[in-house]
Amino acid sequence: MSEVSVTKDAGGPEPATDKLVVLDNINKHFGALHVLQDIDLTIARGEVVVVIGPSGSGKSTLCRTINRLETVDSGSITIDDKPLPEEGRELAKLRADVGMVFQSFNLFAHKTVLENVTLGQTKVRRTDKQTAEQKGRALLDRVGVGNQADKYPAQLSGGQQQRVAIARALAMDPKVMLFDEPTSALDPEMINEVLEVMQQLARDGMTMVVVTHEMGFARSAANRVVFMADGRIVEEATPEQFFSNPRSDRAKDFLSKIL
Ligand code: ADP
Ligand code: MG
Repeated sequence: MSEVSVTKDAGGPEPATDKLVVLDNINKHFGALHVLQDIDLTIARGEVVVVIGPSGSGKSTLCRTINRLETVDSGSITIDDKPLPEEGRELAKLRADVGMVFQSFNLFAHKTVLENVTLGQTKVRRTDKQTAEQKGRALLDRVGVGNQADKYPAQLSGGQQQRVAIARALAMDPKVMLFDEPTSALDPEMINEVLEVMQQLARDGMTMVVVTHEMGFARSAANRVVFMADGRIVEEATPEQFFSNPRSDRAKDFLSKIL
């Protein structure tokens, strides 16, 4: 099962040796709602962390704090040992280091598929157009939509659009990729084509945080499962441990409903 570069350890999650993303005691409120509570999470380079938990438990908010689409009330976040910048060009660069793929594909509707994957490269990375297009086409090939380059997003299926969204994020050479329920909005027959691209990315050694209800993906691709409930990380374990022997009642209850 260990197709990815980080070795799984039956003894439980090991302390990261090469910490790429570190969340230290993060707290966040939305008004009276304490949406993230004392979150400590360290993600090693090359690690694939799957975040699961009931709706409303704070999974999306957690993802959004990692690329600072949301601010936090307290605690610190570092990426590659650098604290998250507050704003401006430094923040734009940081965001480019953290690729994000959303449930709703969020492609630029009035740009072609190729333009979708070159825009960030030319605007944020200052890559010249020809190089950006070469790289864009290679990435579209890699996710299996190379022949769709000149179409507009609306002309593609949901699965194709989501694969373009992944290619677009990869075009920035991100250090880490965040996926927030990337297959939840897809028709069932399109889920696997997106999961396969993600599996391959994991095998290639990409550091990934994946919020998903696809337990098959979690079992086969995750180095670690993080279970959230009510704004807290309730449990962290290897997929083997988590699915066969969840420790907390919350996780047992959750798994009994979805498996
Ligand atoms: P999940 O992704 O696990 O379903 P979310 O992170 O989306 O959970 O939401 C966690 C809680 O925070 C939910 O109760 C949700 O209604 C609330 N919430 C999310 N975003 C906002 C917001 N911008 N303003 C107020 N409440 C929010
Ligand atoms: Mg969510």
